[in-house]
Amino acid sequence: MVIQDGQVATLYRWLEEGLPGRSVVFSGAGISTASGIPDFRSPGGLWARFDPDELSFPRFLASAQSRRRYWEFYRENWKISREALPNAAHHVVAALEHRGMLSAVITQNIDGLHQQGGNSPEKVLELHGNMWEVRCLSCSRSYPWEDIYLRLEEGRTVEDCNCGGFLKPATISFGQSLSEKILEEARRHTVNSELFICIGSSLVVYPAASFPQLAKQSAARLVIINREPTVIDHLADLVINDEASAVMSALRDLLHI
Ligand code: NAD
Repeated sequence: MVIQDGQVATLYRWLEEGLPGRSVVFSGAGISTASGIPDFRSPGGLWARFDPDELSFPRFLASAQSRRRYWEFYRENWKISREALPNAAHHVVAALEHRGMLSAVITQNIDGLHQQGGNSPEKVLELHGNMWEVRCLSCSRSYPWEDIYLRLEEGRTVEDCNCGGFLKPATISFGQSLSEKILEEARRHTVNSELFICIGSSLVVYPAASFPQLAKQSAARLVIINREPTVIDHLADLVINDEASAVMSALRDLLHI
């Protein structure tokens, strides 16, 4: 695909014209595919190999067999993601923060690459949690993910916590509630934003996908950067159908960062 220079120039202009700290980046799995982490819905994505229903929170709680399947999924996730490094898109998002342009990065991703790419941890709102933390669901004690990964690699099962609770990565599974505190903070940043930039999300997973719509209702300009069309393109002020890292690199050139 060829990047439409005019489109990136428009995004650049909106960023430059906007009040400092009033733009929000909203990211999905597509921002991390260039780092080697597959998204869910693209061909060859994780849902091609794992059944999302089987990995739901009610199923996790209900049977040891589902928990084993769930850990298999995480073994694979960790194996891929531990090698991943932030790509140009993550670095440019971090640079936007350091330029004072962003109030927050709201992400559906659990890979931690925004923070690794240079965003301040307090600016990154992880709607779906973080895969590098494992906690007991009963007493919240945390466990190093590396130890559990090693156990899984050796073909052993994951033991329960000393208190008898189940261990689980600190991510939100289907059927599990999102943190009210993070949702509230994300809402606050969204309604106060002037420019809301979605990068690499199919925008179909709720409640996350409600944020771009809330931004639009709150009179922000909505920009969607995605390889393919999304279901809310008709609401956007600007849609750039291209690779996230290429678009963000072109933006970096205009910003001289
Ligand atoms: P999704 O898979 O539904 O959609 C990703 C979108 O990004 C697709 O529309 C795809 O066309 C686009 N895309 C893929 N690569 C791209 C690229 N290089 N440049 C531009 N666009 C690209 O993912 P989603 O919308 O984030 O929702 C799925 C859920 O999956 C999220 O809740 C998230 O928690 C979880 N997830 C996270 C990770 C991660 O942390 N990296 C990976 C897989 C899934």
